[in-house]
Amino acid sequence: MSGHLWLPSTLAREIVLHARADAPHEACGILAGRGESVERVIPVANRAAEPQHHYRMDERQLTEVLFTLEAEGMELLGFYHSHPAGDPIPSTTDVREAHYPRTPYLIVGLRHAEARLAAWEINHGDVLPVDLVVGGAAPVIAEDRTFSPAQSMAIVVSMILAFLVVIVISLSLLPPAPTIP
Ligand SMILES: [Zn+2]
Repeated sequence: MSGHLWLPSTLAREIVLHARADAPHEACGILAGRGESVERVIPVANRAAEPQHHYRMDERQLTEVLFTLEAEGMELLGFYHSHPAGDPIPSTTDVREAHYPRTPYLIVGLRHAEARLAAWEINHGDVLPVDLVVGGAAPVIAEDRTFSPAQSMAIVVSMILAFLVVIVISLSLLPPAPTIP
């Protein structure tokens, strides 16, 4: 395994739906996000001469997508395409035409009733599996989750204040005390 790719199940579903909609043509697109977590799936038109067997992303659309991602502070995390009648394994053409060695290539295979997804790194002819985790997000680094003593105190104080506000509100909602003659 050379790397991880975390793909929320909603996005995995988007890829499968795109692949099924475009079958028998191959569907292709971009995986965007941060670090190793995919946050967005962006379909790109397939301009291959024989789209049943190959894919070639529309270059203009690809450039636009890359500009948009840059503007939004997102990264290109990988590429995806489908094998409408095959398994999610890189074809010889996929290996030959892979120009981004450190970028995962996700493939969705529609050969079986249930779609299969797998991701690969293709480094100048060497194919390495990428650990694709569907239905998850990358673990947050522990330091980001723990609170400093000052932060913990601030949280406790804000909880007490919220509690007090609730008491004050419920007191103010009480009917006025009856006057005793
Ligand atoms: Zn392929």
